[in-house]
Amino acid sequence: MTAPDASTSDNPSPELDDALRRAAQTPTLVIACDYDGTLAPFVDDPTRAVPAPGAIAALERLAGLPRTTVALLSGRNRAALAQVSGAGAPVVLVGSHGSEWEGGFDTPLDDDEVARLARVTADLEEVASRTPGAHVELKPTAAVLHVRPVSDPAQRETAMAEAMAGPAALDGVFVTEGKNVVEIAVREASKGAAIERLVKQTGAEVAVFIGDDVTDERGFARLRDQDIGVKVGDGQTLAGHRVADIPAVVGLLEQLARLRA
Ligand SMILES: [Mg+2]
Repeated sequence: MTAPDASTSDNPSPELDDALRRAAQTPTLVIACDYDGTLAPFVDDPTRAVPAPGAIAALERLAGLPRTTVALLSGRNRAALAQVSGAGAPVVLVGSHGSEWEGGFDTPLDDDEVARLARVTADLEEVASRTPGAHVELKPTAAVLHVRPVSDPAQRETAMAEAMAGPAALDGVFVTEGKNVVEIAVREASKGAAIERLVKQTGAEVAVFIGDDVTDERGFARLRDQDIGVKVGDGQTLAGHRVADIPAVVGLLEQLARLRA
């Protein structure tokens, strides 16, 4: 699926314009925005990726409107996202691709998830106990087996294989396998799951999601028919709309704030 031609910062496409008008009139609205490459230009030093002029002001203006929830949804950890963006309440900051939440959106694990995480952790610790140098890192919703410090490559491989065949194969877990590391989560962390959670907790009839990168496709993929996906820049996308660049995103947010005010 290909989004229509990119609109410029002054001039959204007629389709996008219609979509924004529809979003502005919906009783309860969620606006979720990626950060890097969507609101802030890429720079060599990621700690200096400041927002484009007007970006945070537009988000805060929207977030201050009734029944309007605005979230920044980033792969950065939440603390780094807060620092670099300068954004804070009423804008909701969601870090680490949707695994770090705050405020009223931070819901604790339920009994099943707690039990599953205990099982995963125990299984991984058993693997680690047989593998000198391996260790298990605990996160709020996941356990992570690290085998990088294991000196024997065969032992490293065996430990990874045991983790994949054991706890990673359980029902209801979400597995991210990297080089010498496997993370097993009991709650899905993705931009798609994060948008669904925002929609569920607010009851929003319409969600707007804006992003520029491959990871944002997991967000666009989960949007409902009535939701509005906006891809920033070139590249294949599942989003229904496209804008050319970051200034166009700021223009879009300002327009949406004007229409909804
Ligand atoms: Mg991005």
